[in-house]
Amino acid sequence: MVIVGAGPAGVALALLLARQGVPLTLVEASPTSARQFRGEALMPSGLAALAAMGLLPLPA
Ligand SMILES: Cc1cc2nc3c(=O)[nH]c(=O)nc-3n(C[C@H](O)[C@H](O)[C@H](O)COP(=O)(O)OP(=O)(O)OC[C@H]3O[C@@H](n4cnc5c(N)ncnc54)[C@H](O)[C@@H]3O)c2cc1C
Repeated sequence: MVIVGAGPAGVALALLLARQGVPLTLVEASPTSARQFRGEALMPSGLAALAAMGLLPLPA
């Protein structure tokens, strides 16, 4: 299985699938992480999603 795009949605899906033992390849079109600035805050729904995936607390 191939997961396209290492944005927040693709990475989250990849993590959930990998935890279930689903083979996958995470690919990303952008050659670097230096891309247009995208935000400065996590909304409550985003934090809830991270918590549901067991990813809290966040690193400082
Ligand atoms: C200016 C701006 C400010 C924002 N501020 C905030 C904020 O403060 N807080 C917040 O929570 N959200 C914010 N957002 C929204 C947030 O960035 C998006 O909701 C989030 O990035 C969406 O994630 P995604 O994984 O759906 O898509 P994306 O982040 O777009 O990820 C998709 C990835 O797929 C890759 N891709 C696409 N096509 C291919 C292909 N064919 N092959 C391989 N890779 C491919 C792209 O390079 C990209 O990295 C902001 C957005 C913008 C534009």
